[in-house]
Amino acid sequence: MTRAQLIHIEVDRRLGHEWDEWDGRPLPRAGDFSAAPGLFFRFAALTVLAAAGAVALLLYLIGPRLGGLWTPLPRILWITLATLTGLLALYLSVLAASLYGGKNLLPERLMERGPYLQLMNYTSFIARGFGKRDWVEHAAIDIYNTFAERRGRKVGKGELLVLIPRCLSKQALDGVLEIAGRYEVPVFVATRGQLARRVIRERRPRAVVAVACERDMMTGLRDVAGKLPVLGLTMQLPNGPCRDAAIDLGQMERWVQGLVAEAPGRPHTRQETPAIPLQ
Ligand code: SF4
Repeated sequence: MTRAQLIHIEVDRRLGHEWDEWDGRPLPRAGDFSAAPGLFFRFAALTVLAAAGAVALLLYLIGPRLGGLWTPLPRILWITLATLTGLLALYLSVLAASLYGGKNLLPERLMERGPYLQLMNYTSFIARGFGKRDWVEHAAIDIYNTFAERRGRKVGKGELLVLIPRCLSKQALDGVLEIAGRYEVPVFVATRGQLARRVIRERRPRAVVAVACERDMMTGLRDVAGKLPVLGLTMQLPNGPCRDAAIDLGQMERWVQGLVAEAPGRPHTRQETPAIPLQ
């Protein structure tokens, strides 16, 4: 069986900056942050309310001054705020209906490759204040993947890129290389987020399957998913961040297989060497 080769990988623990504040204690549930989608929707609703509340407070405080400049101005701003809050609530409802109803109700530019990416990040910010960051991010990424997978995108083998972090366990790494070899897709290890983005810029894939912890994945999706279709596989961190990470290899294979399955009338357009080294 063909097995992709890896020329270089760093195995030492070197914390990604996302984990700078880690205190060295074991992570909860052995670094498995799985969470139901409902957790994300609850925090997203809280985020919308918090943002609306903050703007309302500001308007309340400066409204009289604004009224001095132009009398109808405060009223216009209050109506605008109420309208935007209503639209955001409606947007959240459409996302929830899409997820639970089993059908994406909006095009990708209005969902997982559009405003949803911003919503994920603002929601993560609020979740940090409650010590729920990793779980909320996990739920957000799961929802993102569900929407993205439903698009049924197909690409040629040379047009798909698998991006993995430096922290995979040997078993996970062997598994990824085997899958990549089987489907003849190039694999890159990106030691830092900028490198991942550089690889994408230089290789110009048409789709990416990326592996990372929730924290790194959020940044990667925010920066890349708007420009390029990405599926994001999160990891379990049984020995703490940035070392010996485990992944669901079955899920990775399903995604790779689904993306490179030959599309009718769409031959593979770029031939790639299956195994690619890394920085
Ligand atoms: S993907 Fe791995 S190396 Fe990168 S920040 Fe997350 S745990 Fe650390």
